[in-house]
Amino acid sequence: MRDPAPTTIYLKDYSPFGYIVDSVHLTFDLAPHATRVTSRIAFRPNPQATDRTFFLHGEELNLIRASIDGTPITPEVTDKGLTANVPDAPFVWEAEVEIDPGNNTALEGLYMSNGMYCTQCEAEGFRKITFYPDRPDVMSTFTVRINGDLPVLLSNGNPTGTGEGWAEWTDPWPKPAYLFALVAGELVAYSDSFTTRSGRHVDLNLWVRPGDEGKCAFGMEALKRSMKWDEDVYGREYDLDVFNIVAVDDFNMGAMENKGLNIFNSSAVLASPETSTDANFERIEAIIAHEYFHNWTGNRITCRDWFQLCLKEGLTVFRDAQFTSDMRSAPVKRIHDVIDLRARQFPEDNGPLSHPVRPESFQEINNFYTATVYEKGAEVIGMLKTLVGDEAYSKALDLYFERHDGQACTIEDWLKVFEDTTGRDLTQFKRWYSQSGTPRVKVQEDWADGTYTLTLSQSTPPTPGQPEKLPQVIPVAVGLLGPNGDEVRGTEVLELTEARQSFTFEGLAARPVASILRGFSAPVILEHDRPNAERAFLLAHDTDPFNRWEAGRTLAQDTLLRMITQDAAPDAEYLDGLLAVLRDADLDPAYRALMLGLPTQSELAAALHEQGETPDPMAIWRAVETLRQATAQHMQDLLPRLHSEALVDGPYSPDADQAGKRALGSAALALTTRLDGGAMAAEVYAKADNMTLQLSALSCLPRAGKGQAELAAFYDQWRHDRLVLDKWFGLQASLAAPDDAPRIARALCEHPDFNWKNPNRFRALMGGLAMNHAGFHHASGASYALLADWLIRLDPVNPQTTARMCTAFQTWKRYDADRQDLIRAQLTRIAETPNLSRDTTEMISRILGA
Ligand SMILES: [Zn+2]
Repeated sequence: MRDPAPTTIYLKDYSPFGYIVDSVHLTFDLAPHATRVTSRIAFRPNPQATDRTFFLHGEELNLIRASIDGTPITPEVTDKGLTANVPDAPFVWEAEVEIDPGNNTALEGLYMSNGMYCTQCEAEGFRKITFYPDRPDVMSTFTVRINGDLPVLLSNGNPTGTGEGWAEWTDPWPKPAYLFALVAGELVAYSDSFTTRSGRHVDLNLWVRPGDEGKCAFGMEALKRSMKWDEDVYGREYDLDVFNIVAVDDFNMGAMENKGLNIFNSSAVLASPETSTDANFERIEAIIAHEYFHNWTGNRITCRDWFQLCLKEGLTVFRDAQFTSDMRSAPVKRIHDVIDLRARQFPEDNGPLSHPVRPESFQEINNFYTATVYEKGAEVIGMLKTLVGDEAYSKALDLYFERHDGQACTIEDWLKVFEDTTGRDLTQFKRWYSQSGTPRVKVQEDWADGTYTLTLSQSTPPTPGQPEKLPQVIPVAVGLLGPNGDEVRGTEVLELTEARQSFTFEGLAARPVASILRGFSAPVILEHDRPNAERAFLLAHDTDPFNRWEAGRTLAQDTLLRMITQDAAPDAEYLDGLLAVLRDADLDPAYRALMLGLPTQSELAAALHEQGETPDPMAIWRAVETLRQATAQHMQDLLPRLHSEALVDGPYSPDADQAGKRALGSAALALTTRLDGGAMAAEVYAKADNMTLQLSALSCLPRAGKGQAELAAFYDQWRHDRLVLDKWFGLQASLAAPDDAPRIARALCEHPDFNWKNPNRFRALMGGLAMNHAGFHHASGASYALLADWLIRLDPVNPQTTARMCTAFQTWKRYDADRQDLIRAQLTRIAETPNLSRDTTEMISRILGA
């Protein structure tokens, strides 16, 4: 059923549900097209609620029977749910419904993937399983019986009974329905165990399709490291006797933290050196940690309503970033996170989809699982920690867990524990949750009589629904360097709270060079007009590793922008400074590899747009190519040494040390390819014994006009591995030369292995094309049309993935009038498609600015 006139839901309209749920008993009789779900739910009136309407959500359910306290009733059923007259006293609701998991392609609720039953209930999928108050503030214990002729039958909690063709699970911890999960299939377990610090023995199982057992070891180790880390750093212990993870091929997201039964996109858990890159391993470690950490931040303490999504996501992303920093390199992790924030969150925050970390309204909550809620939400936690200090942060978190365990909470609850712990008034800080848009911080410097004055001004451009902005609390970490490069003032955190504010540093012997926004202490855009000589000085001397990298990044961006707009030559200060950093063998190889990175072409387009220029995607592409070529030539003599430093002794390991070396080797190989026409890359490809080297060599070759034979060989080698084949699709679409991109992408769509109903495959190809900036913005509009064709085709099958992929168009107003016309035509064509889903309708209308 479609929604003819989507309704908007507002944060301000929250009111508690009229009934408390004391217990839920569910029985599943599994059948691919006629699964029966019987529910027995104990309700009682909620004394906190004024509205006693008994409304249960339910969508795409076939109601067979319903009763209250054993008496059959006929409730009023719509396509949204049902209402019934109920007693003003405790009562037992029973209902039986029939559902069709075999035809559920949206992958919400109970669905099938390769013959296996699985569920995805966050945010509002449980209402496609049975009638229920499907809202996060309704928490209850669940007992689940599964009847089915499959060997493995799983649900949340602990196993409490099993027999031929059935299993029973009991979850003693009250939870909202979005954390419900069920899995049934022919699966095999990779098992281990963990003993918590108080001595609880926990069975750990990673359930996979037969044949995938060899890809489980790393994920299992990551899980055990996560469990230990959360005990050591946050004092949080696991609370059930078993922890199950299941790998599923068809999944809309990365993974889901269902209580005691995490369900993972197989790409986010299965790994082996032959089939996974170092980046895949790191991502898997982070996602396993993230979902595990949700057991406390999300499950034990959940969200009152979906507007509070950042309460669990911002905090848990922050926690998994801390974990990765501890497991690997903190500066490298921070740089990766900022690269990602600028690539995904900044375009969102500065375009038509801009919304606050805590949105105030939505039509479809699935559209708000965004970089703003997750990544900016995590940045807000990081700022709070910077402002109150590590010790107060720990105390506040202890209080949060103590005060709110078992509750469904709000951002107000979260901030209150910080206020109560520190005595600090966080009223102004709270604007980070309500104001959308990326603040700009403008820097002005003065020097006189031994006093350095730093004047910072903040402003945030208007965003949809928010024409006027108020000043925010912005922690700006600053250090000062003397003329010889020594640090004359260590890092201090300045608190910028006014629109404009000055900070003085007295008693200095010489004019310092300021290192501002160290560690990227706030998610802002720093506007600092300073001579390139100062940036080069910081690139050589900054003691803050993030800002040292940032100095190189700023120099690179500056030279690229001048190459694009003034036809300038590549800047010598950038090339010399980069060469000096790359020569420094004392620096971590991973860090040096990051130094060789450039701003993305999309970021350059955004920077040009900020300057009032109209970005030309081809001019940007040419400038990047020219700078890459110049860098390769400038580093010609150093490259052999970088290759030898990148060599790894011994067998493959995905650890940070080896991965860093390979990252440096890959970056050097990309430069070498520009000098030797791909000879070395072809050699590396032929000898590669792990996916990191194989893929990095393969991705060099198309640029050298080569690689056809290798692409064909890669396909033959990996055609039976679905996750590797995703890489094959993604690589060709994202690396195609701009003029070839639409044709190559179109041809890949015709490939028999383009199984477009699988979200991973669809994203690999269409996401790859969208990432190919100049290819996607091909002047013919062919890539726009191709993506629109596929969005229209996918929408009735999987609205969630369709809506998410619409973001490829979100930056459309940056470009020239011709391209805007082409994109508007495609957006309009999508919008006018009959029966378009609520998800996609909302996204397109926001992007169009309607
Ligand atoms: Zn999460």
